[in-house]
Amino acid sequence: MSTFAKPLLADIWPVVAKAAADAGFELFGIAPIDDTPELEYFPRWIAAGHAGEMKYMGARDDQGRLKRASVLHAAPWARSAVVCAINYNTAQPYSTNAHDSSRGWISRYAWGQQDYHDAVMNRLRQVESAIPNAVHSPDLKTRCYVDTGPIVERVVAKYAGIGWLGKNTCIINQRLGSWLFLGVILTSLDFESFGEPSIPAPDRCGTCTRCIDACPTDALIAPYQLDSNKCISYLTIEKRGEIAEELRGGMGQHVFGCDICQDVCPWNRKAPVTNAPEFQPRKELVNPALEWLAEMSTTEFRAVFRESPVRRAKRSGLRRNAAIAMGNSGKRKFLPVLERLSKDEDEVVREAAVWAIKAIGRA
Ligand code: SF4
Ligand code: SF4
Repeated sequence: MSTFAKPLLADIWPVVAKAAADAGFELFGIAPIDDTPELEYFPRWIAAGHAGEMKYMGARDDQGRLKRASVLHAAPWARSAVVCAINYNTAQPYSTNAHDSSRGWISRYAWGQQDYHDAVMNRLRQVESAIPNAVHSPDLKTRCYVDTGPIVERVVAKYAGIGWLGKNTCIINQRLGSWLFLGVILTSLDFESFGEPSIPAPDRCGTCTRCIDACPTDALIAPYQLDSNKCISYLTIEKRGEIAEELRGGMGQHVFGCDICQDVCPWNRKAPVTNAPEFQPRKELVNPALEWLAEMSTTEFRAVFRESPVRRAKRSGLRRNAAIAMGNSGKRKFLPVLERLSKDEDEVVREAAVWAIKAIGRA
């Protein structure tokens, strides 16, 4: 490590603040890297199987330790983190106000012109490149993360003062709500002291339980605790193959992700909207036609979702989800398309279509 005196937070703060604002981030903060109480919950979450089939969440280092249980497992050199947050909310209605059951619901975060991983990373790199101008530290090391490495970003964000961890497990900011993407820059800078203005925001959930009450699949098993196996976001994006039948009804019209526990949150009632060009919605992705998604060819899927997080679900998953949403609609008009899908080359799509035909029959 450097033999230089520890830098002062006050020295780097104005430079980082300017770089973050220039890069379009509404919020930013700097946190020390410590093992915080929230991370004690992480090994329990993994042990309980709440990560479902997301194997990468349980990745271990050479010593057999869960990488995500401490930032120091993934980056032993890290001493502080610059956390930036950007609003992705737009003026479109919330899913809880979209009542046409013949259309699907893609989550707000996936409507944009560019995949948020790339959009936020490009902006974060601008902030990263300003750090060496602010401190004289010959051994300076930095590393950027936007959902791209083994750290629990929301916990680091809390300690950087971005917001509190809500009962829906999202980071919520008192002024902006929770429609926020996070970007984290780990740094080797060991500051003389932290404190103001980087102090954790107080928990403002109070006695509210709206998110827990509204979750259609009871995925919020307790305040601050989410079981991915039940979460519509996990089921529609991460889960490969068949989805358990008992969870399909609760998925409603969701075909990619889920916004319900944020739509109902009082802190999002007056959430401002963003001007960032990358997050302006592609109109065709807001409340899309289910037939369009279900019968999308490989070529069209690649073209439509080229720069989109929706690629993560793969064409198979998206068409499976669209078939399930058709079943949930109870609408007979979907029977011809479902008949065709029941003979599809993809076994997962076939099975979902057969289930949906039966569901419409029952309705
Ligand atoms: S994202 Fe949807 S399914 Fe998951 S916890 Fe929130 S409301 Fe429940
Ligand atoms: S809905 Fe209520 S309990 Fe849930 S995160 Fe928002 S304020 Fe907290």
